[in-house]
Amino acid sequence: MVDPVELTKIVETKVCRTSSRKYYRFRKTSFYGGCATADCLGCNLRCAYCWAQKKVWTPEKFGKFYTPREVSEKLIKMNYSLVRVSGGEPIICKKHLLELISLFPENKLFILETNGILLNEDYIEELSNFKNIYVRVSLKGVDEKTFEQITGADGKFFKNQLNALELLKKYGIKYKAAILVDLFTENQITNLGIPNLEYETLIKYPFVMKRLRKKGINLARE
Ligand code: SF4
Repeated sequence: MVDPVELTKIVETKVCRTSSRKYYRFRKTSFYGGCATADCLGCNLRCAYCWAQKKVWTPEKFGKFYTPREVSEKLIKMNYSLVRVSGGEPIICKKHLLELISLFPENKLFILETNGILLNEDYIEELSNFKNIYVRVSLKGVDEKTFEQITGADGKFFKNQLNALELLKKYGIKYKAAILVDLFTENQITNLGIPNLEYETLIKYPFVMKRLRKKGINLARE
């Protein structure tokens, strides 16, 4: 079983170097109506439906290290008001992330897409120093059991995701939770009791569907 805390330590040795972080792509995307996106390498979960797994889970084979300044310059040059770090888990390499966010002017909104596992109170307190961030926590289950089945990590870490949402609210950071709607029934999602949930949809690549089947995960909606 995956231990996200232990896996983070291993991943950090591969993707964090002083204040630099490993990325594999910089691109213009249509998400959120258009945003400049940097795709980082390395993650502390092993989600059955991860479409980026080939790169994100084997960061030693792909990409290269970029300083916060290099990343910010690439994103600013794309000339969008929204900038985003996606791909793997951006919360890993804290020093890099905090420095990176600090390099964007206030007229750029920094979108932080995360699984929220590492977002404890200290981390969130530091993030609250930035006024131009928006955090999107991607929930990986509707309870411990589904979280465990989907991520390969102990179900007890599901509460880290819920705690992160509480803390983001407490510190007044703009945030939203998102969930992959294909995997859960309307009742399961409603019972979570999280307001304004954003729905994500499954990208049905053949390798993703194969992996879901192998793990015995059925789609709740076709
Ligand atoms: S949290 Fe995201 S990047 Fe990490 S394994 Fe899950 S889907 Fe992939």
